[in-house]
Amino acid sequence: MITDECINCDVCEPECPNDAISMGESFYEIDPHRCTECVGHFDEPQCVQICPVACIPVNPAHVETRPMLMAKYERLTAAAPLEPAAPQR
Ligand code: SF4
Ligand code: SF4
Repeated sequence: MITDECINCDVCEPECPNDAISMGESFYEIDPHRCTECVGHFDEPQCVQICPVACIPVNPAHVETRPMLMAKYERLTAAAPLEPAAPQR
């Protein structure tokens, strides 16, 4: 989750591999249903790594185990498969 210490610097949003970060009413927010804490993509949460003011703690309402996060990653990637390659002419 992103706290109200967020300075809206915009650097975390493009780093998220799950498109879980978006602008909220007055500062950025994370959709807990799309955040896998970067499990499946990276070793460390990318937004936490890059945030200059360290305002991204784990959401106490969404504490998840690694297997739960991996299952979410698999659900998300299955729901959005890569576009099939265009047929060769
Ligand atoms: S921890 Fe990873 S998946 Fe979750 S919001 Fe940050 S960048 Fe996105
Ligand atoms: S990197 Fe941190 S301060 Fe910058 S927009 Fe994201 S949460 Fe806010």
